[in-house]
Amino acid sequence: MPTYAFRCPACGPFDARLAMSALTDSTTCPDCGGDAPRGITAPGLNTGGDAHRIAAAHERSAHAPDVVHAIPSGRAPGAPPPRPTTTDPRHGRLPRP
Ligand SMILES: [Zn+2]
Repeated sequence: MPTYAFRCPACGPFDARLAMSALTDSTTCPDCGGDAPRGITAPGLNTGGDAHRIAAAHERSAHAPDVVHAIPSGRAPGAPPPRPTTTDPRHGRLPRP
């Protein structure tokens, strides 16, 4: 149900959640019981939920990346050990850079 803004001439502005089918140009003020006309407000736009949050996190990492103080180990905790690149024993005798 959308929220609509009303303004009581005596008590001031207040919000009311009404079904769109029940919307009228005025409603009863919850404080004084008087007639309160509906006001005009800016639309409440949805910002996209998780997609917006993820995009904001990526934008932050682009201009303020995390600082690394050590060389990463290369293996995540619990990851299986790396497979050997080769099993030929002659490759072990090759010169190292
Ligand atoms: Zn009122």
